[in-house]
Amino acid sequence: MACFGMKLVKQLDFYRPGAIDESLTRKQMIHELSHYQVATPSKRLLVNFGLGEDTNGTDSIFTVEKQIQEETRAVLLTLYWFEEWSISSGVSGFRYKGRNYAVVRNMRKQNQETRKALDWLLGTNLLDHNLRPMTELNTKEEK
Ligand SMILES: [Zn+2]
Repeated sequence: MACFGMKLVKQLDFYRPGAIDESLTRKQMIHELSHYQVATPSKRLLVNFGLGEDTNGTDSIFTVEKQIQEETRAVLLTLYWFEEWSISSGVSGFRYKGRNYAVVRNMRKQNQETRKALDWLLGTNLLDHNLRPMTELNTKEEK
């Protein structure tokens, strides 16, 4: 899945169980760690968190809608980590199957999908009530 910003078109397999590619930039690592937090327990240790399209040739185990939902959650959490650490973002969403998906932290500019992701991050305690990212992990399995 082409994640991390609209500028990055080619997606590599950033994550393998137990290891993060050390050639990643700091921002990319933060994004992959956000994926790690967002992933359900059963997907957390899968290559690319079950999102597929990695160099092992595995297909996603998610529907397209679920992939987009998961990516939106991970990108939004990434933006909150950037804010927390005063890292300039430059990220305005992600690209998937030729389409751009906008993800912004500014609540007044959020689309419905991003707003749902925000509610989910709050509900799973990955964000606290002050919209600060937490070091928790998603503990809930989803269909
Ligand atoms: Zn991603």
